[in-house]
Amino acid sequence: MPEKNRIRVVTTLVDMDGDEMTRIMWQMVKEKLLFPYLDLPLEYYDLHVKHRDETDDRVTIDAAEAIKKYGVGVKCATITPTADRMREYNLKQDWKSPNGTIRAILDGTVFRTPILVKNIRPAVLSWKKPITVGRHAYGDIYSGAEMRIEKPGKVELVYTPGGGGEPLRQTVHDFTGAGVVQGIHNTDASISSFARACFTLAWDRKIDLWFSVKDTISKTYDAHFRAVFDREYEQHWKDKFAGTGLTYFFTLIDDAVARLMKTEGGFLWALRNYDGDVMSDMVAAASGSLAMMTSVLVSPHGWYEFEAAHGTVQRHYYRHLKGEETSTNSMALIFAWTGALRKRGELDKTPDVAAFADSLEKSAIETVEAGIMTGDLLAVAEKAPGNRKVSTEAFIDAIAANLARKMA
Ligand code: NAP
Ligand code: MG
Repeated sequence: MPEKNRIRVVTTLVDMDGDEMTRIMWQMVKEKLLFPYLDLPLEYYDLHVKHRDETDDRVTIDAAEAIKKYGVGVKCATITPTADRMREYNLKQDWKSPNGTIRAILDGTVFRTPILVKNIRPAVLSWKKPITVGRHAYGDIYSGAEMRIEKPGKVELVYTPGGGGEPLRQTVHDFTGAGVVQGIHNTDASISSFARACFTLAWDRKIDLWFSVKDTISKTYDAHFRAVFDREYEQHWKDKFAGTGLTYFFTLIDDAVARLMKTEGGFLWALRNYDGDVMSDMVAAASGSLAMMTSVLVSPHGWYEFEAAHGTVQRHYYRHLKGEETSTNSMALIFAWTGALRKRGELDKTPDVAAFADSLEKSAIETVEAGIMTGDLLAVAEKAPGNRKVSTEAFIDAIAANLARKMA
């Protein structure tokens, strides 16, 4: 497309590059699908594991700060260093997960939505529309305290008031033998911002909100989550939702799971940290492939970070390094970009940018529906004579050709 006809993105987008196979695809997506059509101001942060190491992970913090400044960022998958990775890349330290660092700075809730295509039937046959899982990304067992109890003895919960006063005590268990014990927490501030993020996303996408916990058993902890959601609804959303057909639906988690198997989908399911961790993987697996799952971090302050839910696809990268052809799926990475562009268009009030995001998504979906797909999809797609497995690059090229027709 000639320079002057390119669609102008008004505000800078924060571009966070990553590692391995996704880094290779990141470059291709930008070169082949975005730059030809967009006048796109990017602020580039290289989160390659080696660059994080060289900057003592400063680059990750800078990237998160840039999202605060501009509002929207898009992130490639990154290696979370482990002992193996430290040896592989000769790292100074096992730096924290970039996602964890960014989440800690932006605060917020992670929403995961599968990308549905006609020729990949979800394992749950009634699902017609995507189910978005909203996972509370703070507290509970992810910052819990645990103890192995070796011998008989009493374990208590003790709360010592900060300003002095009598401690509150409650017996957890009187052990007569060995066992295990766990203490978890959450805060009103975090639960409230979780609730607000969920209602905001449901409102943005015009989908119903389901929320479920086990408040029949956990009459203080889970019941408090429910009370916070109920209050958020009553105070800020009930009137807004009225007349739009949107609903807020609380139900016990067991009931939600049972109902899930019979619904059409098309709603947001908000869950506590562990429930969301587990259920988002179940929804992803039931929807086809990990590479068909998008993810967005929505901060209560109005910042957004879009990414693919999968990792760096290390095994494919090693094959690529050996010179073998790969067939790695770039759908979720492409949808990270379209999600970010659509949000940018919405915030900047530039509908042509959002329309471009729609066209690109359509081009990608139609490519798969035409039978041109990567290996992961071919394995789960309905059998059809036109189906063929293509390489990582050929898949992106096919989407590019489709997009070119639409943009002509
Ligand atoms: P992964 O990268 O998600 O890949 C796991 C397997 O899933 C792959 O080996 C591949 O299966 C399949 N897969 C995932 N994405 C695919 C795609 N786009 N196209 C085709 N197949 C795909 O997880 P991992 O191998 O456990 O982790 C690798 C690295 O990613 C780790 O260093 C981890 O720290 C990092 N990670 C980063 C993030 C993030 O940045 N958000 C998230 C998770 C993991 P087959 O090999 O069977 O084809
Ligand atoms: Mg999980």
